[in-house]
Amino acid sequence: MQGVRMDPEIDSPSATVIEDGESTASEPQALEADTKTETASITSTDATSATGEYVIVQTGGGRSNKKTVANDDDEPLIDTTAAIAKNSKKTRRLLKQQEKRQKKYAAKARPQSPFDLPPEILQEVLSYLKPSDVLRLELLSHAINDFILDNEWPIAKDIMDRRYWVLRQCFPLPTHLSQVDEESQTALRNPRREKMTEIHKKPYQHIRAVDSTVICSCPSCLLAWNNLNVILDFWHSQQNLNMREPIPMIPRGMFPKWNLELIEKHARIVDRAMFSPLTYATIVEKHLESTIGTLLRQVRFPPHLPMHRHNKAAMPKTVHPVRLYHVTEKDADGTDEFLERDGKPSYEFPFSRDNYYSLLAYVPNRKWDKEKYEWVYFAKGGHERDLEWARRWFLPQEVPSSSQEALAASFQAATVA
Ligand SMILES: [Zn+2]
Repeated sequence: MQGVRMDPEIDSPSATVIEDGESTASEPQALEADTKTETASITSTDATSATGEYVIVQTGGGRSNKKTVANDDDEPLIDTTAAIAKNSKKTRRLLKQQEKRQKKYAAKARPQSPFDLPPEILQEVLSYLKPSDVLRLELLSHAINDFILDNEWPIAKDIMDRRYWVLRQCFPLPTHLSQVDEESQTALRNPRREKMTEIHKKPYQHIRAVDSTVICSCPSCLLAWNNLNVILDFWHSQQNLNMREPIPMIPRGMFPKWNLELIEKHARIVDRAMFSPLTYATIVEKHLESTIGTLLRQVRFPPHLPMHRHNKAAMPKTVHPVRLYHVTEKDADGTDEFLERDGKPSYEFPFSRDNYYSLLAYVPNRKWDKEKYEWVYFAKGGHERDLEWARRWFLPQEVPSSSQEALAASFQAATVA
């Protein structure tokens, strides 16, 4: 039996077990005996004591041994208890109340409209819209109107950076005269200059002449004024061009009321654009629409071709085999990115509405660099350069201060003598 030293060698006189329980056996053997015969005891009988023999009597069973084994193999405790399902009227009522409270709180915390968003996020959202849409939003309520007006510059800047990176460089704004320094204004008002620049102030039928008492009349600003007005007039004519209908022409020397009202309206919009960046962005947006509409007109509004009486199929006719800037419908995504491709430069200003029929894309103030294979924009800084030139040539010549002092000294000396 396991754990009981029934080995004959142990029972023999040569066994190392001694009467007082001490053993002379080697240490490992003693440890083994201690563990395996924990429940056994070694006793000596009178009969055997005389002869020096010992009998090992087992006094316990294997039960206590099992306990020992169980204690040695302790395993980590795992808590397998689970919450008892709550199922009572009171619990259900409490849960219902809690659910109701949570719903109420969630409804309160959620923004009711985009205008409940933090200002920075709302500004970011608005900058993804078209400028005309942002202007329409202003009409929604006073609060929205105030917010857009307060943040008009950053919103418009983000829109221009995202959508009209090319056109904003080609169509700069004219400068209001209030933003021009006194010295430059004096030079601009010089009668000699006024006479020399008369040719630039020639009135057009489709553009109201610039008011030089309100707007800077340097060549760059005059061109900027004319360009922005042409954008609006060209956009106004798109319906006629799409339908292949003639644009109303005005005989020379005639000034019909409808035309005066139209060009006055366009001039007011450009006036406002000088102080409203969203209005300026809207003008640029319209020109992008006109340019895309013109380049894709053959696709969007195919002409009604004559039908042969024996062949009912439309006769194919390609008017523009390769479209300028290789523009496709995919490019009509509200950005002017396609205008960065190689294309035709616009050196001629559309002097009359007659030019609209052949005008494909009017993108002035840039030229194509064949070496770098990119457009070079040159409108920036034109106003400053023109004012510098005007000051140099049209300011009254001043007598140098050193000469004045010398003259005063000689006069004083003469009077003393
Ligand atoms: Zn100017």
